[in-house]
Amino acid sequence: MRFESFSFAPEILRAISDCGYQKMTPIQQQSIPAIRRGQDILASAQTGTGKTAAFALPILQKMVDNPVETQRSNARALILAPTRELAAQVADNIQEYSRYLPISVLTIYGGVKMDTQAQKLKKGADIIVATPGRLLEHLTACNLNLSNVDFLVLDEADRMLDMGFIADIQKILQAVNSKRQNMLFSATFSSSVKQLANEMLVKPKLISV
Ligand code: AMP
Repeated sequence: MRFESFSFAPEILRAISDCGYQKMTPIQQQSIPAIRRGQDILASAQTGTGKTAAFALPILQKMVDNPVETQRSNARALILAPTRELAAQVADNIQEYSRYLPISVLTIYGGVKMDTQAQKLKKGADIIVATPGRLLEHLTACNLNLSNVDFLVLDEADRMLDMGFIADIQKILQAVNSKRQNMLFSATFSSSVKQLANEMLVKPKLISV
């Protein structure tokens, strides 16, 4: 299946073409239509399957389809990832996919100064890619408002739980818009990942690649 068959905005198709992608990967074929319909996603997928584009491209398209009426600084999409490296890589990819769109991406992770990040958060961004611990620190310090988050992605959920982020994730879940669309990606499904999925997903489409 080619990306052109899915009526993406020309700006998105151009960015996909710049990346050299031609055909969708299996996870993209299954996720993209479901996310565009507004369904929650529970996906079993390893890194390297094209999962970043599988959630990022339909989220970008939905943001294009439903532009915000007024200039708003609050994020519309939040992606949580276990490590600084993964968060940076996901943000880089999303920046590539959104290069022809007026959509901004901000990465938030630990190990760097809170102040610099707080200033960037104050300016606002449409999409935030973050590690849970540092994001929660900013939330507690009232440096950001997540009440406009319409799309929430947990990337590599199993690793985040293995690293002990469950309490942080639970607190972050309470701060995001309750009517949001949720996507949970995990390589493995332990009982704790299943429990988190049960708590946060509404009638998810199950995807396994
Ligand atoms: P990910 O699983 O998101 O880390 O992606 C793994 C790699 O596959 C990245 O280098 C992506 O740029 C690349 N990729 C994602 N989707 C496609 C596609 N449809 N065709 C070719 N490469 C892709």
